[in-house]
This record gives sequence, C-alpha cells and structure tokens, in this order.
Amino acid sequence: MNFHILTLFPDMVMSGLNTSILARAMEKELIHVEAVNIRDYSLIRHQKVDDYTYGGGAGMLMQAQPVYDCIEAVQQRLPERARVVYMSPQGEVFTQQKAQEFSKEKDLILLCGHYEGIDERVLEESVTDVISIGDYVLTGGELPAMIVVDAVSRLVPGVLGNDESAGTESFQNGLLEYPQYSRPEEWHGRKVPEILLSGDHAKVDAWRLEQSLERTKERRPDLYEKYMKEHPPAVKKKRRKKTTEEPHPAEEENFLQ
Ligand code: SAM
Repeated sequence: MNFHILTLFPDMVMSGLNTSILARAMEKELIHVEAVNIRDYSLIRHQKVDDYTYGGGAGMLMQAQPVYDCIEAVQQRLPERARVVYMSPQGEVFTQQKAQEFSKEKDLILLCGHYEGIDERVLEESVTDVISIGDYVLTGGELPAMIVVDAVSRLVPGVLGNDESAGTESFQNGLLEYPQYSRPEEWHGRKVPEILLSGDHAKVDAWRLEQSLERTKERRPDLYEKYMKEHPPAVKKKRRKKTTEEPHPAEEENFLQ
C-alpha cells in the first residue's frame, strides 16, 4: 500500500514514521510512504504558500494553487486516481472501521493543512474524504496523517508479526480488548487470573469475552450499547427465571452466534 503525504513539513512525517514496526514494513516494501513538499509546487516568489484570508480575521491560509498542483502531480503518476483525504478537525472522526476501509486502497493521498487551514475551493475540487482525529485543534495535519498511516498500515497483511493480533484488538469486533498479562504470575502481590493458567481454551475465550463486555460497558457505554443492539443475546426460554435482573449477556448460550 502506498501513502502519499502532502505537507509543508516532510521531514517531520518521515522521521516520525520511520521507526519500529512501520520502518520494518517499509523495508520489506509492504507499505511505501512518501512525503511530498507542497512548497515545491508554489509559483509565487520565495515559494510562498499562504496568504491573508478574504473578509479579515486572524491567521494565514494555505492557497489553492500550490495545493492543487501538488495533488495533481501525485495523481498523474498513479495508475488510477486515488482518494484524497484532507486531515481536518471538521471531518468525520477517524475510527478502526475507517482504517479498515482505507487499508483496501492501493494508494492514499493524505493532505495536511497548516496555519488556518486551506482555501475552500481546492478542498471542494480535489478532496474525496475529510477526516478528523478528534474534537480538538492541532497546529497542522502532520500528526493526524501519521496516525492514519500507522492505524491503516497495521491492517496491511504481513505488517504485524502475528496476523492474529490485529483481529483480537480493541474496536475490531466492536468491543474494547480484555485485560492481558505476562510473566511473572505474581507481581506486587497481584496475581494473574487463575483461568488464564488453566490451559482450557474454551474457558479462557469465555472469560475474555466477559471481560471485554464488562470493560466496554464501564469505559465506553456508547460502544457497548451499539454492540448489544447488533448482537442481541440468544435467549434460551427454559433458562429464564422470573427475575428483575438482566442476565449477563456473556452467560447466554450462542452469544457470539
Ligand atoms: N481553522 C481550522 C478550523 O477551525 O477548522 C483549523 C486549522 S488547524 C489550526 C490547521 C490544520 O491542522 C488543519 O488544516 C488540519 O489539517 C490540521 N488539524 C488540526 N486539528 C486536526 C484534527 N483534530 N484532526 C485532523 N486534522 C487536524
């Protein structure tokens, strides 16, 4: 998969991404990341890329021409036109589902704004997706673009050592991941839950699901509610007792369907 990051700060994105798992993925050519300097496409003296906003107001705006020419230069060397994702606090909030969707693309162009942002006209003309990494404002789109590259790359086959690890992680099945433990069996008086040492895989799986459900209910009630709507417990009539208490969903048979 190829990421094309259009930015005024190419060194920032390349040095930020060129470590650990992503560096290995680039070495193995599972992913390819290039940072394209928007400034190189400016036709104005001293490669200026920003100007005052019409109507007044504080701050400078990135101009349409260098941004447009930069996007087109990249598009023209691709086999087919790629999606152009503008990183913006005004966009759709980035999720694991969106990362999965992007991971199916061959090429992805990520456009980073700076200063007060980018002239609206080029956004209207060239951008296919607007993505935010959360409800706060950063100085530039570089960190958001790096976050997108990181989250999407992990889903490209072969990037993670063990392909399974992406499948069981938080959000992958709509729930937060269960707690995990490594050696030693006891640390600071805290023991690893006994069931994880039992070697009984079915029981371990049931325990993990229960933990995932509890954790999601407590920490992300919004996700829990959505999950429960999409996975209504398959109720076995004869097990229903007359009670006011709701049964724990993980206790219901066929819960996973
Ligand atoms: N004036 C813009 C507004 O109020 O929506 C904010 C501009 S921000 C200071 C500069 C650039 O940072 C944006 O063009 C965008 O590329 C990036 N940026 C800032 N916050 C972001 C966020 N939460 N998600 C994605 N990109 C963001």
